[in-house]
Amino acid sequence: MDGESSAQMIGMRRVFARLANGNATRRVQFGLAERRTALLALRRTIRAHEREIIDALASDFGKPPSETRLTEILPVQTEISHALRNLRRWMRPRRVRTTRAMLGTRGRILPQPKGTALIIAPWNYPLALSLGPLVSALAAGCAAVVKPSELAPASAAILSEILTDALPEDLTVCLEGGPEIAQSLLDLPFDHVFFTGSPRVGALVAERVGRRLGSVTLELGGKSPVIVGPNADLKQAARMIVWGKFANAGQTCIAPDHVFVAKSIEAPFLAELKAAVAKMYGRDEAAQAASRDFARIIDFKHFARLTEMIAQAQGSGARALTGGPSDAETRYIPPTILMGTDPDMAVEREEIFGPVLPVIPFVRLDTVLDRIEAGPRPLALYIFERDRAVIDHVASRAISGALGINVVLAHFLHLNLPFGGIGRSGQGAAHGEWGFRAFSHEKAILETRFAPLRLLMPPYRGSRKRLTKI
Ligand code: NAD
Repeated sequence: MDGESSAQMIGMRRVFARLANGNATRRVQFGLAERRTALLALRRTIRAHEREIIDALASDFGKPPSETRLTEILPVQTEISHALRNLRRWMRPRRVRTTRAMLGTRGRILPQPKGTALIIAPWNYPLALSLGPLVSALAAGCAAVVKPSELAPASAAILSEILTDALPEDLTVCLEGGPEIAQSLLDLPFDHVFFTGSPRVGALVAERVGRRLGSVTLELGGKSPVIVGPNADLKQAARMIVWGKFANAGQTCIAPDHVFVAKSIEAPFLAELKAAVAKMYGRDEAAQAASRDFARIIDFKHFARLTEMIAQAQGSGARALTGGPSDAETRYIPPTILMGTDPDMAVEREEIFGPVLPVIPFVRLDTVLDRIEAGPRPLALYIFERDRAVIDHVASRAISGALGINVVLAHFLHLNLPFGGIGRSGQGAAHGEWGFRAFSHEKAILETRFAPLRLLMPPYRGSRKRLTKI
């Protein structure tokens, strides 16, 4: 370890020790009132910094102000309001029914703060995906270090300012930096690690935390397919898909990655897609490039990856229904819809994470479901269809983190639904009570008032017979 990184490590250990220590002394009194105070302070401070948040995201990747309000500020504010409304109930010990074998006892479950948490966030929703988990951590009574992504530096800076203004430094600290900072932090004995990011880094995080048997939530990514069935409302489907795909320029973990469309309705559906792009972003290439409602790509590496993906697909026979020239200087890639892609192309193999939408026709629904089943479990799956039997078939057969029926993305905002993946798309869940639980330990408490359970004690003669009656 060189001088600089060992000094950095010592600094991080100090931060950790302060938080862990502060949290240990706080734990006794970090009850409902103090948690509410922290959440209210956070809500106020976010509101006071709204303009700077909007400017930071515009500077990091040209995110339109309305999208910032809708997808960065609103989700955090609603998460805070929801926690404030429900916290008393979440914190309450829950009585459980006594089982026959346990007659004469009383059982309850007491949620307790896990302790000191580490939150590692990605760049694509830099505020929402740092502050959302932090709200859950504070609600659960945990102290936390938040490590935002180095790829959205203006957003990380404003996040750091908000946390410094809103919360005491023995409760929350923001540490800016890249993978090396994250790795050093991962070696510290945090009581919970909440990671949001790519499956590749998620695996590294799980391995590192696993070495010390630490607890971890993984919110990862992957390909989230859409199925457009033969009886779908095509206009509604197209509008939803275009919005869900091209918001944030496609840099959304639960964005529709690619569309499987029933062959019988392919042509009218493509026409609706094209019309939806024209309506939301402009009729032609020039209008789309000038649209104020369309974000840019986060950095040149991702810009190059995406333009390469498009070029490779088009070089191998794919055609563009919408699209056009990209601009490296401003990292602009137009809303691009591709037809005639095939499973060997990168657009069909890798998570796209950009404004590129392959549309793939199908004849039999089960071949699509077989294909989804053969790949990694999606974070989200979407179906557009009016026939209940088809919807039910997809709902019961396909396994995914979430299923959207005639809707995309919006399940993220429903705080009475768990948000999380399965397998390669994640582990554990976030939002609302699930977020609270991720940062809590559910302690089992069993109490007896008198001396029951005699059957469990010697002498055992005859007890087997009596126990089998229970
Ligand atoms: P990423 O995995 O590259 O980075 C995420 C965080 O991990 C960043 O803070 C980064 O600094 C840190 N990091 C990077 N390399 C690391 C390493 N070797 N060791 C430790 N930490 C490291 O992800 P990204 O590019 O920021 O985000 C895009 C990915 O995140 C996509 O796959 C997307 O689907 C996924 N994502 C998932 C969700 C969700 O809620 N499930 C939300 C947003 C994004």
